[in-house]
Amino acid sequence: MPIVVNFRNNTVKTKNIMKIHLLSLIEDFVSLIFPNICACCGNSLWKHEEIICTYCDFHLPKTNFHLERENSASRIFWGRARIESATAYFYFNKGNKVQRLIHLLKYKGRKDIGLYIGEKQGHLLKYSPFFNTVEMILPVPLHKKKLMQRGYNQSEQYAIGLGKAMRVPVNPYLLYRSRFTETQTRKSRFRRWQNVSEMFALKDSGLLEGKHILLVDDVITTGATLESCIMVLCAIPGIRISIASIAVTVH
Ligand SMILES: [Zn+2]
Repeated sequence: MPIVVNFRNNTVKTKNIMKIHLLSLIEDFVSLIFPNICACCGNSLWKHEEIICTYCDFHLPKTNFHLERENSASRIFWGRARIESATAYFYFNKGNKVQRLIHLLKYKGRKDIGLYIGEKQGHLLKYSPFFNTVEMILPVPLHKKKLMQRGYNQSEQYAIGLGKAMRVPVNPYLLYRSRFTETQTRKSRFRRWQNVSEMFALKDSGLLEGKHILLVDDVITTGATLESCIMVLCAIPGIRISIASIAVTVH
């Protein structure tokens, strides 16, 4: 019996093995960057856990603001901007686990944290009487220069997570920054307000007419950035604006 070697099949098999090997190498590389540990405490995650372990998830300071129209986030905008509702998922305090999450999201390339929190919060918002009529989600934009440095807009990642859970479209292009501002930490509240009041613009206001918009940012501190966005948006006929953030600083 002559021995028939099917070279074509062997080549396909070798190619498949190389493909599988390459995929597992990529997986190893990804797990090196995003190890399967809790983003809050660093402990290993169980198979059913994702990003945050059950213990940390239980102990994170959640606000439940989506259940009440008057809350510490909406009060920040009283007398400053007309909004429908405002919510934040967590309370932000220096040194708490929420600060760690925000830090990883903004400065350590962990955009998966934004998606994850957005999705978790989105499942609550879609059943909230204050947020269940939202028709479009707009993330507060980063200036191009910062976007180049960071590689992504953390608020947009968070918005994508919210949109996925709420089944609402996210539009990251309508609102944009018109000029770059340096770090604002040393400026007074009034100067900060002056500084941001002219830095947003809209591409196509027609798309937002008569709509309930959810404007989202990673953290609400003074509310100045969001207020500046609202000033641009509120000129659109029939628009209703609500606010969502991952965390809020309560003074
Ligand atoms: Zn943990």
